[in-house]
Parts: sequence; C-alpha cells; structure tokens
Amino acid sequence: MHSSVTTQGNQRIMEDVPLSAIVQQFGSPCYAYSKKAISENFLDYQRALGSRDHLICYAVKSNSNIAVLQTLAKLGAGFDIVSVGELERVLMAGGDPTKVVYSGVAKTADEMRRALEVGIHCFNVESESELRLLNKTAAETHQLAPVSIRVNPDVDAKTHPYISTGLKENKFGIDINRAFEVYQQAAQMDNISVVGVDCHIGSQLTDITPFIDAMQHLLLLVDRLADSGIKLKHIDIGGGLGVRYQNETIPSLAIYMDALEPLLKGRIETLVMEPGRSITANAGILLTQVQVIKKNGDKNFAIVDAAMNDMLRPALYDAWMDINSAEIIADRTEDSYDVVGPVCETGDFLAKDRMLAITEGDYLYLSSAGAYGFTMSSNYNSRPRVAEVMVDGHQIHLVRARETIEDLVRGEQLIKEQ
Ligand SMILES: *Cc1c(COP(=O)(O)O)cnc(C)c1O
Repeated sequence: MHSSVTTQGNQRIMEDVPLSAIVQQFGSPCYAYSKKAISENFLDYQRALGSRDHLICYAVKSNSNIAVLQTLAKLGAGFDIVSVGELERVLMAGGDPTKVVYSGVAKTADEMRRALEVGIHCFNVESESELRLLNKTAAETHQLAPVSIRVNPDVDAKTHPYISTGLKENKFGIDINRAFEVYQQAAQMDNISVVGVDCHIGSQLTDITPFIDAMQHLLLLVDRLADSGIKLKHIDIGGGLGVRYQNETIPSLAIYMDALEPLLKGRIETLVMEPGRSITANAGILLTQVQVIKKNGDKNFAIVDAAMNDMLRPALYDAWMDINSAEIIADRTEDSYDVVGPVCETGDFLAKDRMLAITEGDYLYLSSAGAYGFTMSSNYNSRPRVAEVMVDGHQIHLVRARETIEDLVRGEQLIKEQ
C-alpha cells in the first residue's frame, strides 16, 4: 500500500505539498487526501487482476467525497453503494451507473426505484423479503432487476467483531445453506434477472485464508446452480483487505490473487471485488492542532482540536492510529501523551500513550485516516464538520468546505409561540 506522507528535511509532505501549507491555507482540523495514492491503490487492483475479466467496485462508504469518487470514476472504477445517497454521489462524480453494485440489508422501494431508473449493474440482495419487494417494484415499471444474492458463507474473518460480517450470527446476507432455494425462487420471478453471487465477510482482514474459504463456498454454490440450469455471470468476493495502521503485515494483492487463481482457473465468470479501506485509508490523513497540554496525576494530555466526532475509529473500535508532528521542530522534549479531543466523553481520544515532542500550537497528523474517517464524522457537541482537501502534485484543492454555524442548524426551526 502507498503511504501518503513522507519526510523532507524538517518538513512532512504529501505529494509536493508541506503539511504546514495545508493548515495555513485551510485551517485545522482538516482531512487531506493524496490523489496519487488513491489512484495508485486502485491501479494496484487493476494490475493484480490483470487479464482476468473483472470489475472493481470501490466501496463508497469508506470515503464518499465526490472528488474521491471522481478520481476513481476517471480510472474506470465501478462502485459498491449501500444507499441512494451514495448512488447520487456516484452519479454527481461522473461514475458509470452500469458499474454500480448495490449492497445493504434493508433497501426501501424508493431506493430500488431510483437504482432501477438509472440502470445499475446489480442489486446485492440480502434477504428473501428484499427479493420479493424488488420483484414487485421492478414490475411496476416493467423492468428486469439484475440480482446477485449476497450469501453469508459462515467464515470467520478473524477481525474486530464490529467489522466481521460473514458469520452466521451476523445480520448480513442469506445463509449459504438456504441460498440455493432462494436462487430457485428468484429464477421463477418475472421481474428478476439472476446475474451473480456475492459475499463480503468483513473488514481489515490481515490474512487471506478467510477469503479463500469464502470463495470455495461460493464456487460450490455456483456449480450447483449451474447444474440446475442457473448460470451466473459474475462472482463477487467483496472487499475487506486490511491496511497497515501499526505493525500489521498485510498480504499483497499479488499474493491474494495468486491464492485465488487455482480456484478460478478456467472459469469464465467476471470476478467482482468491492475494496474500500485498502484504496483510501493510507491515502489520507487528519491534520489537527494541539490546543492545550495538561497533566492530571501521572498522565500528560495533549488536547487537540479534532475529536471523536471527526474521527470515530479509536472511540468505536479502540483502533490504534499513528500520530506524528506535522513539522519537525528543534528544542522540543519528548514525553508520553494521550492525544484527546475537546468532546465531553471519556471515550473521546485519538491516541493513547504516545511519545511526542510537542507544545501548544503545534500541528499533528493522524495517519491512515482516509477511510472511515470523514464519512463517520458527526456534529456531536455541535461541532461543525471539518474541511477536506485533495492534494495533487503541488496543488491543494478544497473538496469540502469547513461547515459553518449556519450549516450546523440547517433545517432546524424554532416553534411558533402562541
Ligand atoms: C464496507 C463494505 C465493503 C468495503 O469493505 P473494506 O473493508 O473497506 O474494503 C465492501 N462490500 C460491502 C458489502 C461492504 O459493506
């Protein structure tokens, strides 16, 4: 994977831009994404899939900024969406609807209508109720809804329980042991066209064995379906490949593909993948400024201007994220700090027990913040959401303005007094 920050003298830079220039121009806190890193991470997938017929559907929820989607659309990416909001973003960014796969456990009829209208590649159907609703909705407009059934292969992804999705106790997909019958039903429905099979077993996987297990389960089903006369056009193995946050060793895409190759040899189905984190995480950072340094008991706290509402991963998953000074300044002494935000929650931390040489006013950057960062942010504590920029060579493009107080209360109203 491509890390987005390098050191040049006493400067930290993203592409050709010093991090200090980003905060000078756009303020703090601020998310910054490297266009080159996003592009390279996507191209790594294209190269690894090589000559095999494939479709890489970037998982929009990991970073849905329209400039990020635009960058990927230009490279020919497809998109994995989980809501109509994400679909509209893809369309705004110039994405091709015929390369969109639509996941999600409870799509509404309205959402289905819009997706049918724009002509997406397929619906990843996650329940029998959804299948019936989709058939009915497609019938209203005399359309044929392309369907791939998301099966739950009951494979342990060995990742954090909150981001594990392929076990039978998880809410996702249809039990693989029931899937055959559901396909038979789908094939009988007038307004459904069966096109593929899909699974997504979890996120931040550091081992490829669960992917291989899942693929083996899918292939058994694909062959059984073929024997019964249902021939699928694509096999979607989902996303989930991990990234390095700390010292994880992540198998390369080449290793992943080499392991899949013997299973897929001679097969003609298109291979679909839905990577999110592995494309955007290491392409982005969150810049923040130290506001207050204080000591409580034996603990040093660096209170910064970014908080759990801006970056939820540490609070939500106890995730470890690397944090460093954005500029290397002489005469600073190193000490151990908990880096925390100003939000009124003890869970509001970004990093704990880190050796940093900092003082009030310094800028820090949180690494690997490009995925599940801004997209999970909120206005908790009435904090306007931060700016996002995209670095491209020497240029810094503002891709989302910092929210204003007006933005904070948009749509709210006082009640009329009698
Ligand atoms: C979140 C999600 C992905 C992407 O997962 P990553 O771990 O970010 O690669 C892919 N497919 C589905 C259905 C998802 O829900």
